[in-house]
Amino acid sequence: MRVWVDEERCEGMGICADLCPEIFELKGAVAVVKIEEQQEVPRELEEMCRDAAESCPSEAIIVEE
Ligand code: SF4
Repeated sequence: MRVWVDEERCEGMGICADLCPEIFELKGAVAVVKIEEQQEVPRELEEMCRDAAESCPSEAIIVEE
């Protein structure tokens, strides 16, 4: 599974970083993914990552299964 944040949509309120700090963090006004681009999300974090994506009010988190 891969994940990234659409910076154009992100409103920077940090819900994702609260729910899944292992993957998301705020950098200035937007959230970023802490793992390297194109790198797989560790399996044990996948569920938390999906929850964060579903909780994002801007639908800015893109998950590719
Ligand atoms: S929850 Fe969505 S809008 Fe909020 S910081 Fe995370 S990606 Fe951005």
